Amino acid sequence: MSEPIFYQRLAELLKEIQNVTSFSESFPEFEPKVLELFDCERITVYQRNKHSFDIVSRYKSGDELREIRVPIGPQSLAGYVAFSKQGLVVEDVHDADALHAIHPKLKFAARFDHKSQFRTHNMIVVPIIANHILLGVLQLINKNNKADFTLEDQTQAQELANFIGQKFKYELGGTNGPFEYLRHKKWITESELKRIEANSRNHADAIRRLIDDAKLMPEQVALSLEIFHQTKHLGYDPDNYHLHAANSKLNTQYLKRNTVCILANVNESPIVLMAEPNNAALLLEIESATGLSAYDIHVGLPSNILKYLGSTSGGDDQLGEIGDILGEIEDDSDDEEIGQDEILTEEAPAVVRLVNKILHDAKQFDASDIHIDPNKGNSPTKVRMRVDGVCQEILQIPASHHAATIARIKIMSKLDIAEKRLPQDGKFAVKINSNLVEVRIATIPTVFGEGVVMRILASGGAMPFDSLNLSPRNAERLNKMIVQPHGIILVVGPTGSGKTTTLHAVLGKLNTPDKKIWTAEDPVEITQPGLQQVQMNNKIGFDFKTALRAFLRADPDIILIGEMRDRETAHAGVEASLTGHLVLSTLHTNSAPETVTRLIDLGLDPVNFSDACVGILAQRLIRTLCSKCKAPYTPSDDEKAFLIRQYGKDQFKELRVDIANLTLYKANGCATCGDSGYKGRTGLHELLMMSSPLRHIVNTGGTATDIKKLGIEEGMRTLVQDGIYKVLLGQTDFVQLQKITSSDH
Ligand SMILES: [Zn+2]
Repeated sequence: MSEPIFYQRLAELLKEIQNVTSFSESFPEFEPKVLELFDCERITVYQRNKHSFDIVSRYKSGDELREIRVPIGPQSLAGYVAFSKQGLVVEDVHDADALHAIHPKLKFAARFDHKSQFRTHNMIVVPIIANHILLGVLQLINKNNKADFTLEDQTQAQELANFIGQKFKYELGGTNGPFEYLRHKKWITESELKRIEANSRNHADAIRRLIDDAKLMPEQVALSLEIFHQTKHLGYDPDNYHLHAANSKLNTQYLKRNTVCILANVNESPIVLMAEPNNAALLLEIESATGLSAYDIHVGLPSNILKYLGSTSGGDDQLGEIGDILGEIEDDSDDEEIGQDEILTEEAPAVVRLVNKILHDAKQFDASDIHIDPNKGNSPTKVRMRVDGVCQEILQIPASHHAATIARIKIMSKLDIAEKRLPQDGKFAVKINSNLVEVRIATIPTVFGEGVVMRILASGGAMPFDSLNLSPRNAERLNKMIVQPHGIILVVGPTGSGKTTTLHAVLGKLNTPDKKIWTAEDPVEITQPGLQQVQMNNKIGFDFKTALRAFLRADPDIILIGEMRDRETAHAGVEASLTGHLVLSTLHTNSAPETVTRLIDLGLDPVNFSDACVGILAQRLIRTLCSKCKAPYTPSDDEKAFLIRQYGKDQFKELRVDIANLTLYKANGCATCGDSGYKGRTGLHELLMMSSPLRHIVNTGGTATDIKKLGIEEGMRTLVQDGIYKVLLGQTDFVQLQKITSSDH
């Protein structure tokens, strides 16, 4: 169906849906229209069950009303989408490898097929969401005539699902924000709620203020949360609930920081109690750390969750210890009666312990930056930490010990301690609670002396740049591109090709204390200290292009825009990059050259775009062979010929392969890889680096083929070529490579 006709029909359908009282009851009327619209055989709409952690699809079979109930979790396709809130196109539901690559537990539930004699081939599964709250799942099954579903089908299905989400929300009496119900019931005025929300550091702080300052009852706040999250509230009830055995598998600091705990009811069934139950990433982490797969989920007030977890004191004893060290420092200086200029050295045990303690506490408080600022004359040095974006003074160090503290940090980061007049950059890694934490430092000479800013990088947040598995050629080129002070860099590929991972790895490399980095993401999946990360909210009109405008007022150095979904966003991104910002973003295109023509087709000015564009990285994820059991073999002449032909006969020489004695690897299977022969995935890359000749082609209306041809001449290697390179390295095999080549040709 052509796009205009599709949207015209969709609009008519949405109007009809809008006018019925109950979507679910009227669904049989819409069903044939939706099937026709998407040209597919079946459609299933699941609705979120408020009282248990599952989704339900009700349908009529003869006179009977039947239902399919699916737990929210990675065991089924609908459950996985409900859980991850990410849409999927499944090309072949019977391809266990492909499902495994999405999530190790994911399986296709063939029992529905068996029961009904219906054979499922492919499907689109998209979440039905309103205001980030999951309300259901829409499943489109079997494109007619055995055709494949496309990414465009997925986008369109998501549009329908978004509309159904608004309908469900309306039917459920849902609210737009966690505290909206309070205002709706006139328990608080709009202006007071706004003031509290603006002054609160985070969700927990807002709740505390609502109860302490606005004098609301905890039960009122709980009810508001229950309605917003469409999830049952559970209060503090130690007689009926206690910590579940699985809770002990998680670090208490981690649980407190994320305000979550795992409770058991009197039957020992697990319940995950969360302050913000729509945090799928947190649930995934908890599942993988505890092995829990079936549980209920409830929303709780942060104070109650902390009560279940024991004390709320958390940081108090830590500060006590710092007091001791400071006492020790003061004692030292009293004893030795040393002068201002030649105080104890950076090697003094108290100074070493003080610096370690500061780092330790920063990690405990989840601080992103530590600022050690010298003060005038004999005034003490202030140590401030930025927690949740707000700088707080944590302690003061006597002025007499300022120099030793700074020197200690400079030694740790291998900087020149004698140089105090010029700024220096460095980094070091330190073990805190057995986690290796990377700390970047920048020294700042001020009129009062030397100051230091330290930025704590997450140990588990972004993937290290060096782990992206870029070919040496691509690594060198991408490294050159990302240090440009301005311009636009795009990472492109279908959903699930690892674009966000790559962008965060790039940001991780660029994330130094002197850089201001803002990101607009939907959703925020990976967090990194030091970054200002902003979640989009389309319902209130907070989209990428609004965020971009707001960011420009803050004048950041680097901006990440989650996706260039439309002309306006793409246009705003190009403008921002032309006015001195480095802009990173993604696009749903298949190859780097095609991206250029897609953007021009979207209506971007070719000259502006080619000027702004630094480069485009297209990527895919490919399964890697299990290193424990992969089996070497000598490829046949046909296989060798295929590799050479696919790579290009002339270029194949650059790989310096001894083709006569070539050894490749294939999948085998062992206990480590669950007998699949594969473990993990890695990226395949196609990196187009903009150049004057390429710009000329773009400006004069060149096609994707023209761009590709010149790109290759200038050193770009295609996804397939990168795949062959990785087959030759023994990282993956022919079977996986052919999946990539067949989907891209
Ligand atoms: Zn294995």
